Amino acid sequence: MIYANRAVDTIKQVGPDGFIQATLDREHIFHAQTPQIFQAGLLKQAYAAHPQEAPAPTDEARLLESNGFPVAVFPSDSRNRKITHREDMNLLHTKNLRIGHGHDVHRCQKNRPLYLGGIHLPEGPGLLGHSDADVAIHALMDAMLGAAGLGDIGHWFPDSDPALRDIRSTRLLEKVWTDLKARGFRFLNADITIRAQAPKLAPYMEEMRACLAAILETESTNINIKATTTEGLGFVGRKEGMAADAVVLLEMGVEP
Ligand code: MG
Repeated sequence: MIYANRAVDTIKQVGPDGFIQATLDREHIFHAQTPQIFQAGLLKQAYAAHPQEAPAPTDEARLLESNGFPVAVFPSDSRNRKITHREDMNLLHTKNLRIGHGHDVHRCQKNRPLYLGGIHLPEGPGLLGHSDADVAIHALMDAMLGAAGLGDIGHWFPDSDPALRDIRSTRLLEKVWTDLKARGFRFLNADITIRAQAPKLAPYMEEMRACLAAILETESTNINIKATTTEGLGFVGRKEGMAADAVVLLEMGVEP
């Protein structure tokens, strides 16, 4: 059997002189697609029977046809396009892309542990929040939910829920990602900026990226994390709090 798309254009048979010889009945014209699926024994038999001097068939169905085996046609999805010529690569760029932005702020609190980007930073200061207050993951989740058109984390994980007290944000991120996958989203990339006057975040960047990439089942190169101080200005500069922003790109409409 093969997948095939029914012809939507009128099909002309054109002679070597460039003039139309016939107009074919498009009701019975299909564009052969892949995959093409055959019983291995029959396919081997058809290859063996193909004369070596004969021109190569343009698809395997032709081999089966010319050996008298019936080949069934199943209607394909019109989005199932074959990539044959270089210009077909442009088809790859017609994705349904969705962008989202997230922003979060948490107040510094010395007697709490500091979690950022999914990892523990022993220097602190910690951040105050109902969960572990991982400001980077919160911005990331809000960006993901924004891209998916699914509201925000306040709605998903209300701070009135006692079950979420001190919960690690990595667990919340796992839940968001599981849900987005089930809805047919594919994660493409994220860019996160953390604003903190202290501690120095550079030594932790790779560990944060690896942690988030593992949860989102993607490569570390798809998670960019930047850190900046605010030159001593504002609540971040006074070490009263930390903030984070994130942008995320998702692809919508992929198979769950
Ligand atoms: Mg938050």
